[in-house]
Amino acid sequence: MSFADLVIKNGPVITMDAKRRIADAVAVKDGAIMVVGSEPEVKRLIGPDTEVIDLVGRALTPGLVNTHDHMLEQGISSAFVADIRYPKARSIRDIQVIMEERVREASPGQWVLGHAWDETLLEERRFPTRYDLDPFSPENPVYIKRVFQMGVANTKALEIAGITKYTHDPEFGTIERNEGGEPTGLLRGKAATLVTDAIEWTLDDREKAIRQACIDYHSAGFTTLIEPGVLEDKIEAYRSSHAKGELTIRTLIQVGFLRSLDEAKWAVEKYSVGGDDTLRIIGLKMMVDGGVGPRTALFYEGYKDRSDVHGVQMIEQEELNEMVHLGHVNGFQVAIHAIGDKAIDVAVAAYEHAQRRAPRPEPRHQIVHCYFPSEDALTKIEELGVMVNTQTPFLYFLGDSFLEALGPERCEECMPVKTMAGRGIPVGISHDATVTQPLPNVGLYATVARRTINGADLGTAEAVTVEEALRFYTVPAALHTFMEDKVGSIEVGKYADLAVWNFNPLDVEPERLLDWECQMTFVGGRRVFARE
Ligand SMILES: [Zn+2]
Repeated sequence: MSFADLVIKNGPVITMDAKRRIADAVAVKDGAIMVVGSEPEVKRLIGPDTEVIDLVGRALTPGLVNTHDHMLEQGISSAFVADIRYPKARSIRDIQVIMEERVREASPGQWVLGHAWDETLLEERRFPTRYDLDPFSPENPVYIKRVFQMGVANTKALEIAGITKYTHDPEFGTIERNEGGEPTGLLRGKAATLVTDAIEWTLDDREKAIRQACIDYHSAGFTTLIEPGVLEDKIEAYRSSHAKGELTIRTLIQVGFLRSLDEAKWAVEKYSVGGDDTLRIIGLKMMVDGGVGPRTALFYEGYKDRSDVHGVQMIEQEELNEMVHLGHVNGFQVAIHAIGDKAIDVAVAAYEHAQRRAPRPEPRHQIVHCYFPSEDALTKIEELGVMVNTQTPFLYFLGDSFLEALGPERCEECMPVKTMAGRGIPVGISHDATVTQPLPNVGLYATVARRTINGADLGTAEAVTVEEALRFYTVPAALHTFMEDKVGSIEVGKYADLAVWNFNPLDVEPERLLDWECQMTFVGGRRVFARE
């Protein structure tokens, strides 16, 4: 009789299997789940060399599956970028204090970065400018990113990026200027990339970032993740980290993001679907619109405070159709960023077009965000088998700015996860790091309570139970990764990707979910994280 390598007992073991079974114990052998069941069933598998973990009231879940987080960026920001997110920084003054300290630690000329402020949460209720940064950073380029598609550069950074009063605004971007025409440092939309493209990272930096990101995600219970929108050097960094055995989270890559048909042609030439269970290319990432905060998400109806503003469409329908078709016929999952109702219609039309022109079983194309789908879009999403990955943690962190932009009525319908799950649409929840931190405790809370960080109510029509919210991190999310037979639930034969939590989330009041914390994480039976 063969013994288990690892036994975790004294549950609850929240299996997330089709019967939604809660077991008492799990046995692991050779990296896979050997037995899930009652205490006696598992007990007899404990041999002299079996490691035994007693949960004593804590809970075990499948390792969480994250359907859309910019993991490399998360690693970069965690390893190299100062955190100036609310509530770390509550004012521009706080931002100055944090950034000044980073500048003091940096060598002259080195980039000093911060992210991600949100002026609606700052005491001064205004945008920072370069004049807030210049006094303490004469030698170093400093760039502080806003939560969405905006940032502020100091004078040195503007210099390096070549931005002067004579620089024209790029397409889809604005260089904010004062009355004299001088750039204030605030860069909106695509103008921000003039600076961010000037920042250079080496392969070493990126490998360090990936090591850091693995720690960040494992410490939050994640074991599988879709990395959306990486290209060339970044994919290389993943490959070399994997070759060194440093990539411990199962990483599924969507190549991109791709802005034109030419870029899509280039991508399908250069990359193909494939890899192993640790690193695999699965998709192509594209983008139709922007975000709610900067009023660039694309809607039929105008914004509440600017009824003439409807957002931007970054790519025309016909070109998008061709791009999607190209990915579709080459076996890629296509993932399209679409937030406003009109953008979602555009994305859905492209998927419909691809499927009509070249039918393919289960391409599992994805709508990234999908905050305001129309009834008609939902019907087509369901019919086409399109998957939705959405970011309920934004309701918590960015909900107040959503309310300001769109008003309460439209926000009540934002991210209709209950409706979508009810229609059988596979919904995955993610954090879109570095927009928000990868905190599944906030994810569960926001999905269940639909309240903002300041306590504003976003309506309960689309609220779900804790169990349903947790499912969005497991079984339906695994479908997005094409690994549903290997991850996403605790079942015999699947990988022993597991997470231990400080308490059973199914047993507590919603408010307590914010205290839910991962204590230990296993990937393929190997412990990759343990809280001290
Ligand atoms: Zn994203």
